[in-house]
Amino acid sequence: MNATILLLPGDGIGPEVVAGAAGVLRAVETRFGHAFELPEAIIGAAALRQGLPPLPDVTLAAARSADAILLGAVGDPAFDRGPSSGRPEAALLGIRKALGLYANLRPARVWPSLETAGPLKPEVLAGTDMLVVRELTGGLYYGEPRGIEPDGSSAHNTMRYSRQEIDRIARHAFDAARLRRRRVTSVDKANVLETSRLWRTVVTEVGAEYPEVTLDHMLVDSCAMRIALAPSSFDVIVTENMFGDILSDEAGAVVGSLGLLPSASLGAGTGLFEPVHGSAPDIAGKDLANPIGAIASAAMLLRHALKLETEARAVEAAIERVLVSGLKTADLAGGGPAVGTKHMAASIAAAVGTS
Ligand code: NAD
Repeated sequence: MNATILLLPGDGIGPEVVAGAAGVLRAVETRFGHAFELPEAIIGAAALRQGLPPLPDVTLAAARSADAILLGAVGDPAFDRGPSSGRPEAALLGIRKALGLYANLRPARVWPSLETAGPLKPEVLAGTDMLVVRELTGGLYYGEPRGIEPDGSSAHNTMRYSRQEIDRIARHAFDAARLRRRRVTSVDKANVLETSRLWRTVVTEVGAEYPEVTLDHMLVDSCAMRIALAPSSFDVIVTENMFGDILSDEAGAVVGSLGLLPSASLGAGTGLFEPVHGSAPDIAGKDLANPIGAIASAAMLLRHALKLETEARAVEAAIERVLVSGLKTADLAGGGPAVGTKHMAASIAAAVGTS
């Protein structure tokens, strides 16, 4: 396959982890006989430093014409004081909006040998491998009218969902479940909210088109509890924007370091793949960052944007083998022996080539 994957390294540790993930993509290219073009463009503070907006037009144009985008992170304390439209983070909202990325996929799995990296008992965490599918462009975060009274006496937001918005995100969840353990848990607050009752109706209708996938419904409060008590009981969770925002962070937290977590944002335009972590200015440029979140994001890119499931699994298997071999970056090592970003990424790339 020929594919153009736009690299947006961004700020802080972004360039380090994206370089690691690009090395892994090169290893996939060699092993499976593909031809990937990996052009780079600037975003975030890297663009601001050149006197450009955080999401330059040329970057957006390159994003639109690519087959997929791999982003590192944006954010730089030097720009924290400006207006929000001039901050590096504005680029993230801008690119998601411009590309119509309405589906956010956040997997949370416990990697072998890292059962003790998270806050839960290893026996509770064992076997955890879930995917949170979050609706990203609707609901309370975007609903109008919204506002705060000038005298500060009250404020309001609007929660609104259309059938079409629910239908399209539900399909993402069922399609993903087909490639996994074929179970979807739809999360809502149907005992209180009308939007949730419509959500439940539409997800049930879509589910009827996927007879091989089991569907159940869960209230968001029960789901939050169950992620902490029995995370391994979930396969795919599908939910609206705000519930997904909260539950995907909770799911990520139970499996351990922020540096391990990948994400995908999918929709009408080019898919965007990025680790969940930020630019980590405290460790930037020191070869300390864990590149696994970015490398696992590259695996998601192969799976969802390029439909290369075998290659995606090869990358995930390579991550697993390297972790099982005992290699750890500082965030996972608990003060014990650790390897740097480059060493970890090169080991995973080598494992892709030899598995
Ligand atoms: P952060 O995720 O950058 O860092 C939080 C902590 O986790 C830090 O101690 C950091 O060293 C550690 N960490 C993060 N990624 C790591 C990795 N791969 N390996 C090892 N340790 C890692 O969050 P923050 O400190 O709140 O934010 C820093 C900047 O990043 C801010 O400007 C923020 O706005 C931005 N940010 C960007 C994104 C994004 O680009 N998607 C997401 C979150 C925050």
